[in-house]
Amino acid sequence: DSQNSTFKRVLLKISGEALMGDQGYGLHPPTVARIAQEVKSVHDLGVEICMVIGGGNIFRGLAGSAQGMERTTADYMGMLATVMNALAMQSALEELNVFTRVISAIRMDEVAEPYIRRRAVRHLEKKRVCIFAAGTGNPYFTTDTAATLRANEMNCEAIFKGTKVDGVYDKDPKKFADARRYETVSYDECLQKHLGVMDASAIALARDNNLPIIVFSLDEPGGFRGILAGEGTYTRVHG
Ligand code: UDP
Repeated sequence: DSQNSTFKRVLLKISGEALMGDQGYGLHPPTVARIAQEVKSVHDLGVEICMVIGGGNIFRGLAGSAQGMERTTADYMGMLATVMNALAMQSALEELNVFTRVISAIRMDEVAEPYIRRRAVRHLEKKRVCIFAAGTGNPYFTTDTAATLRANEMNCEAIFKGTKVDGVYDKDPKKFADARRYETVSYDECLQKHLGVMDASAIALARDNNLPIIVFSLDEPGGFRGILAGEGTYTRVHG
């Protein structure tokens, strides 16, 4: 078991759906606890950790607007969903004695800190896990873009995108037996081939700031820690 990480500060992005386990909706506490354990094992290496969690397990703006809801209102509902997920993760991490702060892009002072960049940096320096909630605070964006934005602002060395598969494939590995995993792939190839790593604005923002995106499987126990210690399979998206 590796005890070292070459990374000092990273951002972990997970979708809201990663927290719902086998259910079709919402939060599955044992799954939240399992992911918190993965985060703790990396925290134990001394790595400073930012997190962004999506809201798709509760509400997506596009789904709301498809049902006739006004788009920006629906997007605010999606952002509020990410706050619920952030609070669930905070609770699970603190259960493991990992100190955290939930930092919201939409002010709700009784629930979470407002986002103040220098304050968030200080939390990281004090080894608190910073869970950035409410996305970017703006409709028409996604939490992938929020993750890229915060990773840049916090000077993270990379974004770790935890998914159900161990990297980026040329086609869906759950459907095609001959799907091939990329070891590395460029931002531009992701955009041109619509490889589905993150949405286009998130990838463009990562590209323009040379922020590597590491796509890995969060279903693999110990996988997150392993990759930080230089083991395991993943895809590295870079320039
Ligand atoms: N959202 C938004 N602005 C942001 C981030 C998120 O409007 O900066 C809304 C948007 O409606 C989105 C929802 O919040 O559908 C949930 O986020 P996302 O779809 O990124 O969650 P994930 O797919 O990662 O679970």
